Amino acid sequence: MQITGEMLLGAAAVRGTQGSVRAFAPALNEELEPAFGVGGVAEVERACVLAGQAFDAFRAAPLDTRARLLEAIADNITALGDALIERAHLESALPKARLEGERGRTTGQLKLFASLVRDGRWLGAVLDPALPERKPLPRSDLRAQRIPLGPVAVFGASNFPLAFSVAGGDTASALAAGCPVVVKAHPAHLGTSELVGRAIQKAVADVGLPEGVFSLVIGEGNAVGEALVAHPAIKAVGFTGSRRGGLALSAISARRREPIPVYAEMSSINPTLVLPAALAARGDALATAFVDSLTLGVGQFCTNPGLVLAIDGPDLKRFAETAAAALAQKQSQTMLTAGIAAAYDDGVNTRAQTAGVEQIAQGAASAAPGGARPVLFRAAAELLIGTPSLEDEIFGPTSLIVACRDEAELARVLEHLEGQLTATLLIDPADYPLAGRLLPILERKAGRILANGFPTGVEVCHAMVHGGPFPATSDSRTTSVGTMAIERFLRPVCYQDLPAELLPAAVQDGNPLGLWRLRDGELVRG
Ligand code: NAP
Repeated sequence: MQITGEMLLGAAAVRGTQGSVRAFAPALNEELEPAFGVGGVAEVERACVLAGQAFDAFRAAPLDTRARLLEAIADNITALGDALIERAHLESALPKARLEGERGRTTGQLKLFASLVRDGRWLGAVLDPALPERKPLPRSDLRAQRIPLGPVAVFGASNFPLAFSVAGGDTASALAAGCPVVVKAHPAHLGTSELVGRAIQKAVADVGLPEGVFSLVIGEGNAVGEALVAHPAIKAVGFTGSRRGGLALSAISARRREPIPVYAEMSSINPTLVLPAALAARGDALATAFVDSLTLGVGQFCTNPGLVLAIDGPDLKRFAETAAAALAQKQSQTMLTAGIAAAYDDGVNTRAQTAGVEQIAQGAASAAPGGARPVLFRAAAELLIGTPSLEDEIFGPTSLIVACRDEAELARVLEHLEGQLTATLLIDPADYPLAGRLLPILERKAGRILANGFPTGVEVCHAMVHGGPFPATSDSRTTSVGTMAIERFLRPVCYQDLPAELLPAAVQDGNPLGLWRLRDGELVRG
């Protein structure tokens, strides 16, 4: 499939007229063909109007049609073959094997949402039949289901050009809910975005849905994204990216005449706790595994272990020495964009100059352009508590080892931390009592708590939570990965005493959709 540099507005491919931008190959340090036309407010207007027009027909289509759309998108992405991997590799400098894995995750999650759509439990069908004889007052006939919010604006992140981008988790969950989607292409992977966008555009046509179910707009600077979030047809936003970007879009939503939910997945430093028994028994192995996780993908994961917490003593000293030796063996590698590489250097330099912070290791330099050298720091817990900047995410392969005097200080540090996507416990059985005492704090701080692993892998399944209290996300009640992500784009509607002829299928007597429903408080399939 040819990359043309056009936006996809419904069924049309349209060249933006507000100038042009090119994608960039960070590993080659050169611009890529073709030039992409930059869109403006007119294209955002077209995409949003089409999405608004498509909404009622899309949500009224049979659930099987919606599921087939998701499956067709997955199939069309697979059919793009090596061309997609080649382009994503050029634009991101991520290894092809990693991108192949990410493609599998992307198509797998589309298919998972297709099966979820067919299952229909997410409709939340509830029936409380009338109680005409009830005293002192009769009860009306009350039934409820959940309906989609309306068109959703999606902003993907630079570090997952497939799984958190045009056909990523936000798009899959919004389409599964019955919401048309308008994606703002990420400037770091414009060609990848167009290829995947065309795969979605074709799928919409293949299954015979209205063209406005999907559009892809391109902008330069923030204007297009801002106009998209401000557009009255848009009823929710799914964003993955920086804290600054997420907060900017939330602020635009708050200023709208009709404020809308902005589900922004932002930044996290993912505290990793090495508790005393595990530290004593296998500190060396844990230190090496920690450095491998920290430097995986040049540290460009929102789940990167950016903070290690442990109780001070000879075991922690040895852990730090082993980690430092392992990190010194790691070479600098090309980052996703020049901007991310510059922000990483700034962040690391600032941290190195922070009084009381000790730089204990640095990876080797290499000839890779736009490279990031891994760096490991150490500090005392009281410094972390007194220095807010030490909690800022530095996106890349760097982490801070924090020594706590005792259990009480460890708990104090945890209480002090901002919200996180993850918290990790590296523990042996003798650590379970302490871990149990810390768990209530961790539950208040993080969306996912894991034991004896590292947080960088995020499984796509029913139980996954990729979310957490602010600033990890703008709304801690939700997840952006896994099937629970559909909840973000639904709202309940109650039907009171509606004639049977007017009731939606999900709550009709006779259960024509064959759903699991809550009837008089009992879960039944009837
Ligand atoms: P980013 O710079 O915030 O960009 C994300 C998208 O939002 C881009 O399309 C960007 O387009 C747009 N955008 C950003 N600020 C905007 C504004 N003020 N107005 C309108 N649009 C705006 O993030 P990134 O560089 O792609 O990703 C790196 C960051 O993402 C890291 O902090 C990382 O931790 C985080 N991340 C978080 C998760 C998670 O799930 N929590 C996952 C992956 C990455 P323009 O640049 O064209 O404006």
